[in-house]
Amino acid sequence: MASDPHRDPSFSASSRRSFVRTLAAAGLGALAAPSLANWARAAEDASAKSPQRKIGIALLGLGGYAGGQLAPALQQTKLCRLAAVVTGTPSKGEKWQRRYDLPASAVYSYETFDRIADNKDVDVVYVVTPNALHRDFVIRAAKAGKHVICEKPMATTVEDCDAMIAACKDAKRQLAIGYRLHFEPYNIEAARLGTSKAMGPVKTIKSEHSFVGSGGTWRFNKRLAGGGPLMDVGIYSLQAACYVTGEEPVGITAKEWPKTDPERFAEVEETISWTMEFPSGARAECRTSYNEEANYLHVDAADGWFELSPAFSYRGVGGKTSRGAMNFPRVTQQALQMDGFARTLLHGEPNIVPGEMGRRDVRLLLSIYEAARTGKRVAV
Ligand code: NAD
Repeated sequence: MASDPHRDPSFSASSRRSFVRTLAAAGLGALAAPSLANWARAAEDASAKSPQRKIGIALLGLGGYAGGQLAPALQQTKLCRLAAVVTGTPSKGEKWQRRYDLPASAVYSYETFDRIADNKDVDVVYVVTPNALHRDFVIRAAKAGKHVICEKPMATTVEDCDAMIAACKDAKRQLAIGYRLHFEPYNIEAARLGTSKAMGPVKTIKSEHSFVGSGGTWRFNKRLAGGGPLMDVGIYSLQAACYVTGEEPVGITAKEWPKTDPERFAEVEETISWTMEFPSGARAECRTSYNEEANYLHVDAADGWFELSPAFSYRGVGGKTSRGAMNFPRVTQQALQMDGFARTLLHGEPNIVPGEMGRRDVRLLLSIYEAARTGKRVAV
């Protein structure tokens, strides 16, 4: 099995080059190979040019994703380090301070957060709170002079997205969305196969991302989440359809399915399916639920097919095509994602998951809800 460059401290320049060769040999072409090759080269360049300079990241909202995925991934980055935390719970702050050896001055509450402006160790604030709270924290971070990574979905309204983009622009700070799969080799390959028409033009995409949620958390609260599974995990199928076609949909139809548990799903949808029509004629048929288990992407093109299963997980993404198996190295997506943003800040590389992409997706998510509510095709 291929080694994980972020787990292996001996992952040297030469092994990085062979990692890139492995990807190329495994079929990564025009779109993916350069971006992963750039990643490897840039990591080498960065450590050669400025061995001490790492991007300091403050995690804001120390819940499941920040604690379970982002903090461990930060330890595997080449170009970033955990520089501060922001939490509403003092005991969590103390725990994180001890665990990650942070100075007491690097632990902020939501009330003292604005003082982060004076902390030169912090370059980036990474907002990992419930969706509806992203807006205010992103704006406060930008006003404090920090670059921002904001978790998906970017917000619960397009107006919020506009305000967040404007605040970062005014402060001359970069804004990225936590779209980790843009840094994951199998998804990059699916995007390459689709956009390069390696198997002919894409005809139909089928995708579902669903899980059984036990209820009672902010994810089931319309005000905090903005909606149900669509806002949370359905967004991955929407994203995949866009990066596989390289297009944005022009028309959406949707249907919300009857609730089998009206109490648990009092405020948000239980299951919703939708169809997106793309300018090329491709169609994406997607579904998401908090009461089913599914995680796949299947693409039929004119001369073959390709699929990822599971498609959207943190680990163990797998894939095959009508021409054979895909075989890519295992990576820590969030480490590559944060190093990618660090390269944007350190070397001026393009920010490939900008706020504008987050805004596009929020607009599409809300169009799906509108199509389901009205029963009519929504032109977007
Ligand atoms: P979580 O419930 O585990 O954590 C949320 C954190 O926000 C907690 O620390 C909580 O204390 C804090 N918080 C602050 N104000 C709150 C309030 N009013 N109500 C509830 N919590 C509040 O959630 P999570 O799974 O960590 O998700 C956080 C964000 O990260 C969401 O936007 C989610 O969509 C996103 N996320 C992204 C991924 C990914 O793969 N990119 C995965 C999981 C979650």
